[in-house]
Amino acid sequence: MGIGRYGLHDTILYKRFCKGWLRATRVQGVRVFAYLEANIQVLTAVRTATYCMRFSVHHLAHSKMSGAGIVAKASLERTAELRESLSEINSRIQQAAGPSSHKPTLVAVSKYKPAADIQACYELGQRDFGENYVQELVEKAGQLPQDVRWHFIGTLQSNKAKILASIPSLYAIQTVTSIKAATALNKALPAERSSPLNILLQVNTSGEDSKSGLPPLAPDSPADAELTQLARHIITECPKLHLQGLMTIGSLVESLASLDKPNEDFETLQKTRDALQEVLTKNGFSPDAGRWGVDGRLLLSMGMSSDFDAAIKAGGDIVRVGTGIFGTRPKKEAATSSG
Ligand SMILES: *Cc1c(COP(=O)(O)O)cnc(C)c1O
Repeated sequence: MGIGRYGLHDTILYKRFCKGWLRATRVQGVRVFAYLEANIQVLTAVRTATYCMRFSVHHLAHSKMSGAGIVAKASLERTAELRESLSEINSRIQQAAGPSSHKPTLVAVSKYKPAADIQACYELGQRDFGENYVQELVEKAGQLPQDVRWHFIGTLQSNKAKILASIPSLYAIQTVTSIKAATALNKALPAERSSPLNILLQVNTSGEDSKSGLPPLAPDSPADAELTQLARHIITECPKLHLQGLMTIGSLVESLASLDKPNEDFETLQKTRDALQEVLTKNGFSPDAGRWGVDGRLLLSMGMSSDFDAAIKAGGDIVRVGTGIFGTRPKKEAATSSG
């Protein structure tokens, strides 16, 4: 906890600007940091506050205090807003699923939204959250409660496997498309993780160049199709991963049309799932062995704010809703989708 763990640069700045407090910090540790945090607004009033704040935030993000109420609270107004949108989305999900069906999982996509928004949703009972950017996910996961189930839904680069694997509350990666990434994740996951990391394979159902994902399968696809090879690799070579299902983003055109006609992307994902399950079973990986899927079925992650009702009606198990819960995001994200 000592200041000595931090860079010399930080230490010097801190010393210069917060003089007397330095000694107190060394002696009293955590309590002083809590004090610093509480006084951060006062500190910002002085010219030197930038340095103090950087130090404090840096410290808090890496300290054992993570997840212990360090997230600023959303305003009452914002909390009421989130309560309303979350409850509306949940009732639409229930309606789309019908009375008898298994309740689909709502992943609240919180990219670009402050930790306070996530905390407010958490307090309203929401547990699954989706993030697209590795660094943003690392920071938020460090601040929010440990029983949040984080879903990584951004473009996955193999060189980010290590940092992702180090997040204890990472529940699933929905965007795996290569054997290289799967191998890197399996290797990087710590032995002390309590359960395997759930993996969904991203399928490019629309065939658009702008979307990542492996080509979909049809009943007559060759046995060595890329998607099939990747699924087999995870089942046979990656004991720390659990192949949970398939994910697609789908084209905007299909999404906008999905009020009037069946969404072809959703249908393609479903057919791909059926074909993959069949080839896995034929290859001796019985659905009952628990090596893939949930209750013998690969789950489908499809549907976003504009089309999640249609996705559920088309057999979706996991919907990823951002705007519908948190409101619009800054435009910047259109430019990049990697973390
Ligand atoms: C941002 C994002 C979402 C959420 O999109 P909304 O339209 O805001 O609901 C869902 N899935 C993925 C992969 C995303 O990147």
